[in-house]
Amino acid sequence: MEYSTFAKARRALDAGETSCEALVSSFLERIDARDDELNAFTTVDREGALNHARYLDSQRERGNARPLAGLVLAVKDNICIRGYPVTCGSKMLEDFSSLYDATVIDRLRDAGAIFIGKTNCDEFAMGSSNETSHFGPVRNPHHTDYVPGGSSGGSAAAVAAGLCHAALGSDTGGSVRQPAAFCGTVGLKPTYGRVSRSGLVAFASSLDVIGPLTRNIEDAATLLGVMAGDDERDATSAPVDVPDYTAALGAGVEGLRLGLPSQYFAEGLDDDIRRMVRAQVRRLEEAGATIKNVSLPHTEYGVATYYLLATAEASSNLARYDGIRYGHRADLQETKQALRERREALQTKLKAARTAGNEDRAAALEAQLDDEASALDALYTRSRTEGFGTEVKRRIMLGTYALSAGYYDDYYEKAQRARSLIRHDFERAFEEVDALITPTTPTPPFRLGQKTDDPLEMYLNDIYTVTANLAGLPGLTVPIGEHPGTPGLPVGLQLLGPHFDEALLLRIGDAILKNGA
Ligand code: GLN
Repeated sequence: MEYSTFAKARRALDAGETSCEALVSSFLERIDARDDELNAFTTVDREGALNHARYLDSQRERGNARPLAGLVLAVKDNICIRGYPVTCGSKMLEDFSSLYDATVIDRLRDAGAIFIGKTNCDEFAMGSSNETSHFGPVRNPHHTDYVPGGSSGGSAAAVAAGLCHAALGSDTGGSVRQPAAFCGTVGLKPTYGRVSRSGLVAFASSLDVIGPLTRNIEDAATLLGVMAGDDERDATSAPVDVPDYTAALGAGVEGLRLGLPSQYFAEGLDDDIRRMVRAQVRRLEEAGATIKNVSLPHTEYGVATYYLLATAEASSNLARYDGIRYGHRADLQETKQALRERREALQTKLKAARTAGNEDRAAALEAQLDDEASALDALYTRSRTEGFGTEVKRRIMLGTYALSAGYYDDYYEKAQRARSLIRHDFERAFEEVDALITPTTPTPPFRLGQKTDDPLEMYLNDIYTVTANLAGLPGLTVPIGEHPGTPGLPVGLQLLGPHFDEALLLRIGDAILKNGA
């Protein structure tokens, strides 16, 4: 692919060497060639993308080129584009179309971005391997027996395979950074509040953020500059100035103080990944950075805290899918029939209990009959049972449990306290250093099916990423080479910085990539 990054495409467009239409056509050809196997897209909008490209070309001819004209973007299927399906990787929303544009979509379209399609993801963004999608798993473009990571697996695979210039993902506990690391792309999780969540289907509202996945740092900086900023449609978006993110690129790392948190290099980290990250650290030191060891003592509570808070928020957010206002609706006649059959069975049992003179049993059965669901309740239950997959149900149950009376203090409250401790760890660390360096994931990509039977094992993928969400910090992953144990599969290095300092992370990430990882 000749113009695989937007940075290159923009120069070619300015030089008159290509057109937006030609760019879209060549990406559509690549999608045709590769996506049957990868399954990265849930929708491809051929006509829409080509029409928009032709419109942008005609505007350019009139001397009216927009800043992002020619940027071909894929969008995770939990972000709303008006008139497009927004499935969230779930049967629940299989037939649902967005009624409005997410704020980021508005802003990107105004700037000239072209949306080529929606990308597959773990169901409601819950997962680390893209295997919980109702539409089947996505495959890692570097080796199709391996997972692309999740939950923004389709976005990462599409960018890595050259099916678009860049993609949007969402990151609640690592869902931009972990798949970016597994597919060898750049992935940026902005500060909580930096980018509007309006039009992002909610998973865990205090943790969710939209971020770009790209092939280079420049494109991530360009995209963030357009996406970021306060928004009256999201009360949690922050009224903080948005700098020119491309301006600081190329400034190097001389004089920067970079911290290595010991807890992120402890037991459980793959040896090759440790060596590769350390090698990058030495290069940064040679380039003039000062390296310091730091401690984030509450890191060990990160995964437990995240899985309590994220599931609690999810159980509340997903209550809206009742099959009436939103989402998959079970067949009403079948539901009524099942209800009738249940009632008849109970009545038969009641009769038998009475005949046998078993008064206790008869009373229990009578109570059960009184409690029998109404047709409406039964419809809710049946719709949700049919519409949600196993992982989503597991999370709703965990979250409901954590919030229930009698357990709230032990679980939810305690997790909130742990969240504060984790945030304070970072605040203290950023008094000593400018940014932190960690591996993005504890292991390289794994094979499809390898972890699907063991949710805990799957959750441990997020051990280095969830803390940034709990603390609301920005995080950036950059690819640092191939894993020697599984040739061809990428490894990512994560940079974490103080609130709203994405510019610093982009600057360091740029230095790492230009150093020739
Ligand atoms: N893998 C994590 C989870 O399953 C994070 C998901 C995300 O960031 N959306 O919850």
